[in-house]
Amino acid sequence: MSCEKCELHKTRTNVVFGDGPPDAGILFVGEGPGEQEDLSGKPFVGRGGKLLDQYLEIAELSREKNVYIANIVKCRPPQNRDPKPEEQETCINWLREQTRILQPQIIVCLGRVAAQRLISPNFLVTKEHGEFIEKSGILFMGTFHPAALLRDPRRKEDALADFLALRAKAAELGIIDFIE
Ligand code: SF4
Repeated sequence: MSCEKCELHKTRTNVVFGDGPPDAGILFVGEGPGEQEDLSGKPFVGRGGKLLDQYLEIAELSREKNVYIANIVKCRPPQNRDPKPEEQETCINWLREQTRILQPQIIVCLGRVAAQRLISPNFLVTKEHGEFIEKSGILFMGTFHPAALLRDPRRKEDALADFLALRAKAAELGIIDFIE
């Protein structure tokens, strides 16, 4: 919470470390905190966060029970710009430690920055969203960032399909009990 390893510490209000139970089976990763997250110290609490919570509910998931939410960088990039590669490179060690402690079965990347960082540098969210890829014993899936869905609601149907696929995978892995 007192990290000053990259330039982003100079303009942050709060470090937004993560939110969710320590035994969550699924880790969601976004790119970085926005304005509301910076002010509150919690990830995904603005309009995008509320939309994410709706999708989680559809998938029978929640931050209280089985989902942990974090970001590639823990401090807000000024004016919501993309985190710079060197900022990502510095901060990702915190995410590595979070992943090591949580040992999630599934990691869901929210948006391009997280998916290109964690799945593949060439990952195209519009083409490859919803696909599960195994890496080092963890299933990775990329889907749309909630802020992108607010900007372009035409993608909401695709996002819904991704979360239904996630629900099926979570049931298969025993993260949730059953699906109808
Ligand atoms: S973004 Fe990450 S590395 Fe940079 S100051 Fe914040 S916590 Fe530290």
